[in-house]
Amino acid sequence: MTGAMQRRWLVAGRPIGRELRGDDFRLAEVPVAEPQDGEVLAQTLYLSFDPAQKSWMENVAGYRDPVALGSVMPGRGVARVLTSRHPGFAAGDLVHGELGWQERPVMDGAQLAKVAEDVSPTAVLSVLGTTGKTAYLGLTHVGKPRPGDTLVISGAAGATGSVVGQIGKLAGCRVIGVAGGPAKCAWLTDELGFDAAIDYKAEKVRSRLRELCPGGIDVMWDNVGGDILNDCLARLALGARVVICGGISRYNFDARNPEQMPPGPRNYFNVVFTGATIQGFLMNHFERDYGLAEARLLAWVRAGAIRYKEDVREGFENAPAALMGLFEGGNFGKQLLKVAA
Ligand code: NAP
Repeated sequence: MTGAMQRRWLVAGRPIGRELRGDDFRLAEVPVAEPQDGEVLAQTLYLSFDPAQKSWMENVAGYRDPVALGSVMPGRGVARVLTSRHPGFAAGDLVHGELGWQERPVMDGAQLAKVAEDVSPTAVLSVLGTTGKTAYLGLTHVGKPRPGDTLVISGAAGATGSVVGQIGKLAGCRVIGVAGGPAKCAWLTDELGFDAAIDYKAEKVRSRLRELCPGGIDVMWDNVGGDILNDCLARLALGARVVICGGISRYNFDARNPEQMPPGPRNYFNVVFTGATIQGFLMNHFERDYGLAEARLLAWVRAGAIRYKEDVREGFENAPAALMGLFEGGNFGKQLLKVAA
C-alpha cells in the first residue's frame, strides 16, 4: 500500500440555522495509512446517509462526540477488509461500522462487525441498520400498537417510516402514511399494504385526516414536525401515543436561537382532552434490545413480510449531494452511495 492515495470528505462548515451547502464539505487526497495491531485497512463499498448527520456537523447532538472542522465526515458504511491486524477479521471479510466518508479507512477492529453471509450487504445499512432498528424499537417501546389501532406516520415513504408502517400492519393496525408526491404514496398503498396515503405536497393533511381517521389517531409516528405534526395532534384518539422520532422540517433552523425557531405545535393542548402522551426517543435508548430488533427484522425480511427500498447513488464524489438530497425528499427509500464494487 506504500504510496497509495485515497480520497476523504472533510467537514468544512457548520450548517447551523441554514441548509447544507456544497462548501460545508472539502474533498482531500491523503496517503492510505498502514494498520497497526488491532486495526484493519478496508475498502469502502457503500456509505449510508441519515438526516442526523447534519446535526453532527453542527455539534448540537449531545449523544455524540463533537466533530472538529477539518476532520473526516462521520457516517456509516460497508467495507471489504484489505489487510487485517485484528484476530477477528481476515482479508476479504465484509464489515460494517462507522467508517467515515473515506475510501480506504483504517479502523479499530473493535468498532467493526461482520456482515452476515446470507444477507444483502446493504441491508445492514437500511432495514437491518439504524433506520430499521429505530422503527422496530420506537414502535414497540413507545408507540405500543394494538390490533385495530389507527397508526399515522409522517415521512412515511422514507427508510424509517416505511418500516414503521409495515410493522404496524403486522401488529394489526390501520396504517396511514403521509409522504411527498404521488409515486411515494402509490408505493405505500400498492406495494407495502398501507391502508391509505396522504400526499402532503398536493393535499390538505388536516381534512384528509378527518376523512381517513373518523375514530381519531391512536399512534402518531412523527419524523417531520411542523404543520404535519400539528394537524395530527388535532385528531388524537383517547389515550393516543405520539412518538417523536424526528423533525426534519426543523433541521434547517437554529435550535439555540429562539428567535429563529418556528413556534411549537398550536394543537398540543389536545393531549389534555385525550389523555395522550407525547414521547421522544433515540434508538440507543433501547440498545439492550438491538439483537432482538435485528433478529425480528431479519426474520420478517426473509419471510417477505417486510419489504424495503434502497436508493443507491454512485460515486464517492457525490456523497455531499446524497446527504443534501434527504432534505428535499430526493431519496426514494434508504439513501446509499456505492463507492466501489
Ligand atoms: P428518510 O425518511 O429516508 O429521508 C428523509 C425524508 O424526509 C425525505 O425523503 C422527505 O420525504 C422527508 N422530508 C424532508 N424534508 C421534509 C419537510 N420539510 N417536510 C416533510 N418531509 C420532509 O430518512 P430517515 O433516515 O428514515 O429519517 C427519518 C426521520 O427519522 C428523520 O427525522 C431522522 O432524523 C429520524 N431518525 C430518528 C432516529 C432516532 O433515534 N430518534 C433514528 C433515525 C432517524 P418526502 O418526499 O415524503 O418529503
